[in-house]
Amino acid sequence: MGEQDFKPVEEFREIVSHLRKLMVANMEMGLEAPRLSTSALNYLDSRPSGFASLEDLRKYIGDCKRCKLGYGRTNLVFGEGSPEAQLVFVGEGPGREEDQAGQPFVGEAGRLLTKIIKAMGLSREEVYICNVVKCRPPKNRDPEEDEIETCLPFLKEQLNLVQPQVICTLGRIAAQTLLGREFKITRERGRWHSFMDIPLMPTYHPAYLLRNPSAKRQVWDDIQKIMKHMGLEVKKDA
Ligand code: URA
Repeated sequence: MGEQDFKPVEEFREIVSHLRKLMVANMEMGLEAPRLSTSALNYLDSRPSGFASLEDLRKYIGDCKRCKLGYGRTNLVFGEGSPEAQLVFVGEGPGREEDQAGQPFVGEAGRLLTKIIKAMGLSREEVYICNVVKCRPPKNRDPEEDEIETCLPFLKEQLNLVQPQVICTLGRIAAQTLLGREFKITRERGRWHSFMDIPLMPTYHPAYLLRNPSAKRQVWDDIQKIMKHMGLEVKKDA
């Protein structure tokens, strides 16, 4: 093997991925792997970097069983949209319809998000849409800490590959996860924050708007701030 063929990062990834598959197989046969090595392997295996494209990252994630959500989902919902999007929306996690379709925000809340995107003068294909966790939490419960911790490196890698001008988080969980602290959505939405040096605007989740239509005005105010930042033509009403 010539020196130029030696790719340490790829080799390391392969070894870790192989070990993790063995561990998952053992666990599925009822042979529990020692806790420390399970978490250590998950840790190593979900801290990738340096992917050339979103497709490469998707391939690497594979048929993910790095956390317990991997065992209950129908489809992993990676995210979709333009790899060159200037705006990325980050939700919480797939719901029932997203789990069935393998696409983010395609249920009722998703249809409302699509309306918001259109009101901005954009299309779903021009933005990028993803979630904090890529697999549906059972009964739509909030994702748990270990699930978020396992999946977050992949979201970071997506944001790193897309390099948007703005991130818009939808709901408390997404804002809290990216900002790494407790987040009071009613008090703190609508103000600029930043994540990986990218301006971040937190707003309400569209599912919240379905239950509280009067909050639409506030979301539109937040969206207008994003539009202004992106140099999009700001209209008074959606
Ligand atoms: N809610 C989310 O947070 N994400 C989706 O993809 C759908 C609903």
